[in-house]
Amino acid sequence: MYCSNCGKELCDNAVICPGCGAATGKPLGAKQESNVLAIVGFVLAFLMPVAGLVCSILGKNRAAELGGSGKGLATAGIAVSIAYLALAVLFLILFFGIFFAALSAAAYL
Ligand SMILES: [Zn+2]
Repeated sequence: MYCSNCGKELCDNAVICPGCGAATGKPLGAKQESNVLAIVGFVLAFLMPVAGLVCSILGKNRAAELGGSGKGLATAGIAVSIAYLALAVLFLILFFGIFFAALSAAAYL
C-alpha cells in the first residue's frame, strides 16, 4: 500500500501516512484485526486436538467476518486437529486390539 498523497510506502495497518500525515482512506478502527481464534486454534490443534478443532472452526467463521484474516491458519488448524484425532483413534483401536489379543492369549495359557 502506498500513500495516495506523496507515494510513500505504508504499512498495511496505517491509518495516516507517516510521511505527510494524509489519511490513507482506511477508516479508524477498521484496521486489520488479527484472528486470535485462528492462531489459538492452530496451536491447540497440536496440544489438544478437540479444543483445537473447535477453536479453528470458530476461527474460520471469525475469518469470514474479518475479511479473510487467519482463514488459512484456521483451515490448517482444522486439518491438523482432524489428523491428530484420526491418529489418536487409530492408536486406541490398535492398543485395545493388542491388549485384548494378549488378554485372550493369556486366558488360554
Ligand atoms: Zn504521504
